[in-house]
Amino acid sequence: MDNSTKQNTQGKDKKVDLSIVIPIYNEEENLPILYEKLKEVLDKLGKRYEIIFVNDGSTDRSWEIIKQLAEKDPHVVGVNFRRNYGQTAAMSAGFDMARGEVIITMDGDLQNDPTDIPRLLEEMDKGYDIVSGWRKDRKDAFISRTLPSRIANWLISKVTGVHLHDYGCSLKAYKADVAKNLDYYGEMHRFLPALAKPVGAKVTELPVKHHPRMYGKSKYGISRTFKVILDLFLVKFLLDYRTKPLRVFGGTGLILFTIGSLILLYLVFVKLFMGEDIGNRPLLIFGTLLVLSGIQLISTGIVAELITRTYYESQNKRPYLIKEVVSSEDKS
Ligand code: UDP
Ligand code: MG
Repeated sequence: MDNSTKQNTQGKDKKVDLSIVIPIYNEEENLPILYEKLKEVLDKLGKRYEIIFVNDGSTDRSWEIIKQLAEKDPHVVGVNFRRNYGQTAAMSAGFDMARGEVIITMDGDLQNDPTDIPRLLEEMDKGYDIVSGWRKDRKDAFISRTLPSRIANWLISKVTGVHLHDYGCSLKAYKADVAKNLDYYGEMHRFLPALAKPVGAKVTELPVKHHPRMYGKSKYGISRTFKVILDLFLVKFLLDYRTKPLRVFGGTGLILFTIGSLILLYLVFVKLFMGEDIGNRPLLIFGTLLVLSGIQLISTGIVAELITRTYYESQNKRPYLIKEVVSSEDKS
């Protein structure tokens, strides 16, 4: 948590059971309706809760409305970004602020339905760390949205090994300790269930309702699919190799170096013992290239390894996440 978020939470570090995190970018018509619907569902739950609206640089009246809601209802927390940082950053700020043991994220455009919240919580009580919504009956344009999303979901599931039908659904429930310990950048919020794999999170999915957007416009188009695919490469790397980059680069480097060295040794043999001229042989260039690339890759691996260490140590991060500790020692 950085300083600014610490300031914001001052005097507000009372724990609650449930935090709802909602990124808001120009949703003035939706906000009041969403708030009423949420209120109705959450008051019935009998849990201590908070609703965190993160205003992601809206240019309409969204922030005014959030401020009004926060003034009249102590359950509402409003966070105002200085500019538009994107949905992922808004969710991340929400995670930092959240005081709940469980965090539920959803869209602010009424496409997700607050009545699904109790169902997500029930599912989570079966022992899951993440329950991801699945818009089984999705109400978006087929060619530009639903179809690319199906392909992307299939690909993400294959590559990450975490099989979900609908990574893109914002309605998800997280155990707070898992959500707060994930690293993500750019537009990566959809990958959170996959990024939670290394910390051993138990992930499941649950069909949820989905409504067409009634007010305001969608902030994304087809180009998002390509960005998602690009992010997938990074996610794969983060998942498999982040803690051991030397093995990725070094492994390949070592193979190239070995082949190159064998070729050069062979040429030395040809030159010394068979007396042939080797200066004009393509094999010489090839061997030299292999040896050099090998050395390059190995050193890149070592540098990457050092960067990883700095990364963990500078942020006091641990490469593991503990679920609980038991001990019979007196705790007084
Ligand atoms: N959103 C945001 N910042 C952005 C874009 C979107 O906070 O830069 C919010 C938006 O207000 C909504 C949610 O993220 O609450 C999902 O956006 P949208 O409905 O446009 O996405 P779609 O449902 O079309 O995928
Ligand atoms: Mg939407």
